[in-house]
Amino acid sequence: MPDAAAVPGGVAIVALGPSRAPRPSTTYQGRPVLVREEVREGRPRWVAVVGIGLAADAAQPQALQVREAGGRERRVAFKLSPKRYAEQRLTVAPRHVELAPDDLARHERERAHLTAVLRTFTTAREPATLRLLVPTAGPRSATFGARRIFNHQPRAPHSGMDLAAPTGTPVVCAAAGEVLDVGDYFFNGHTVIVDHGLGFLTLYCHLSAVDTERGREVAAGALIGKVGATGRVTGPHLHFSVYLNTQSVDPALFLPTA
Ligand SMILES: [Zn+2]
Repeated sequence: MPDAAAVPGGVAIVALGPSRAPRPSTTYQGRPVLVREEVREGRPRWVAVVGIGLAADAAQPQALQVREAGGRERRVAFKLSPKRYAEQRLTVAPRHVELAPDDLARHERERAHLTAVLRTFTTAREPATLRLLVPTAGPRSATFGARRIFNHQPRAPHSGMDLAAPTGTPVVCAAAGEVLDVGDYFFNGHTVIVDHGLGFLTLYCHLSAVDTERGREVAAGALIGKVGATGRVTGPHLHFSVYLNTQSVDPALFLPTA
């Protein structure tokens, strides 16, 4: 299991009841959620592992919609705590902040494609573990969630973890899965997205080289690419994101402590 952190950008782990009954299908804000069996004090139970969006309002009550195999529906409430993230000021190439019309059109096409990819919820595959391997050697920044100002212009908060490493450093898959998408995107540069099942996805950006292809089965620790500086970057690093139920959540919750 990841570390629980019921905060915006974190992971809420919500007990759904004993697992004598078949796995209930569960949604949060209309999106399917990962449900997994967990043994606590010798008793097996179902728990929902819920990605909480960075934009979530911690003051609002939260709820899961749970549908039992027999069809009975119920609502399971849970609470969030607030979390305040730092601000980060970055200087990048002007073309990655003030987009020319062609770049804007390209970005909009890519955003639509990536949004569709990140909605993938594969029920045929169940993650072997929700703990992840560190995808590349290098110092990790704790800037997930940071409100970002690029060249004095506010932009979306940071949706992942940056691992600083020289161009060419190997990047490995953080868990077993299937390569869902490989592309060269305006902001993300050369990118690989891996599906671990049940809406649990990992994304690897700014690669200098991709050493895999869409549809390939990958083992935990398999080489998938090399660190680079493609897309919107200040220098070579790996941007690593983790998704649950379409929400990017703090990768540090899934990794061994640095
Ligand atoms: Zn990043």
